[in-house]
Amino acid sequence: MPDSALSPEYEIVCVDCGGRCFLLTQPPEDGRWYPGDFVSYRCQDCRDRWDLVLPDALDNQPD
Ligand SMILES: [Zn+2]
Repeated sequence: MPDSALSPEYEIVCVDCGGRCFLLTQPPEDGRWYPGDFVSYRCQDCRDRWDLVLPDALDNQPD
């Protein structure tokens, strides 16, 4: 598990139907993701598409 690499979830739960949504967006060539990058998911059940923006400071959450 990379320590400081930002990466999107490969799979998320569909907000609409509770089904499984899989990552559509291909990783960048250098494999690095940045905050603000758009990633898209497609639900296998309802076929809805979800666009998310990668948050920043995933590894810097206040405690
Ligand atoms: Zn769905």
